[in-house]
Amino acid sequence: MKLAKFTRHLKPSETLAISAKAKALRAQGREVIDFSVGEPDFNTPDNVIKAAEHAMAEGFTKYTQASGLPALRQAIAEKLNRENNLQYEPEQIIVSCGAKHVLYNLAMVLVDPGDEVIIPGPYWVTYPTQVEMAGGVPVIIPTTAEEGFKITGEVLRRYLTPATKGIILNSPCNPTGAVYTPDELQDLAEVLRDTGVYVITDEIYEHMVYDGLQQVSIATLSPELKERCIVVNGVSKSFSMTGWRVGYCAGPADVIAACGHLQSQSTSNPTAFAQVGAIEALTGPQDSVHEMAAAFVERRDFVVDRLNAIDGISCPMPQGAFYTFPKINALFGRRANGRTLSDSAEVVDYLLDAAGVAAVPGDAFGANDHMRLSYAASMEALESGLDRVEQAVLNLT
Ligand code: PLP
Repeated sequence: MKLAKFTRHLKPSETLAISAKAKALRAQGREVIDFSVGEPDFNTPDNVIKAAEHAMAEGFTKYTQASGLPALRQAIAEKLNRENNLQYEPEQIIVSCGAKHVLYNLAMVLVDPGDEVIIPGPYWVTYPTQVEMAGGVPVIIPTTAEEGFKITGEVLRRYLTPATKGIILNSPCNPTGAVYTPDELQDLAEVLRDTGVYVITDEIYEHMVYDGLQQVSIATLSPELKERCIVVNGVSKSFSMTGWRVGYCAGPADVIAACGHLQSQSTSNPTAFAQVGAIEALTGPQDSVHEMAAAFVERRDFVVDRLNAIDGISCPMPQGAFYTFPKINALFGRRANGRTLSDSAEVVDYLLDAAGVAAVPGDAFGANDHMRLSYAASMEALESGLDRVEQAVLNLT
């Protein structure tokens, strides 16, 4: 059988693949502590669950408008105004099946074959693949821990070419936890303002920002740039609703309309009662969001301290999201059971085999010297998992 050409480069998401491997080991009776996951370990808030249950009973079990319920788009417009100082009309907003789906739609409607899309690295695994699926060329700007995993306007300027169609910014960042300050975003906005480049700003971790930093959307910094910004967000991370599959974006009306047409010919609407749950998440009490962020800070501090105490691992302090991204290249060349570890995939494999701890190799994010450990896990799991990682590293020769 001959599959379409684009499938030759299509691989499953590495993070989902590792979670699947961890689940498979558990199913075989191994006790695995899973730090590979990209979802909060908290339950979806009760009020949201009740709203969706009620919605099902009330008949929200049929198709809705393909671009999302008008009431949800209105709630999103109000949320963006209230929390992000961004004014959009409901027709500038579309609801899709998770932020991943939003980003896929955007790649499809913005990118022509050969168009370049700039992606600062380390990057979320899915961005380059989605650009490639649209026929575009992902142009990675590498950054290091010493640079805080952030690009500057000066660096960005060097990567802009006549073929640049867009840039994907992600602050707070998965996997590094880097958070851009308003000044740093202003620096980027100044370089981007007079170009025709679209700015896709993925703000899905907006509520997980620590150390007194403030989440700011680049779309607020320049009215000219806002005309080419698409603000991507969703309820997955902030409200622990990863399985509900509700994400959204706001941006120029023509881009949103094109996403709407694509969606009406592909998935149709996101699940009707999940959309009602999302309305409750955005308009109901917000305590759970703050409680979750407070728990994450405590865990982050614990994990970073523990990792830095392990010989061969050095972990910068992430300022957002719920991941640590320690440097592990000092472990390359060390040996266990006759096997020499030579890259991030082998280190992660070793930790899964020897310690029963699942992490994600940095390679998946374009940074082979690192691995990603999520701290969206209970304190007990973190303590026991880090004890095991420490012991497994000590066992290396
Ligand atoms: N963007 C980033 C940076 C993410 O880390 C994720 C999920 O891991 C998503 C988007 C996708 O979120 P959703 O579950 O809403 O599709």
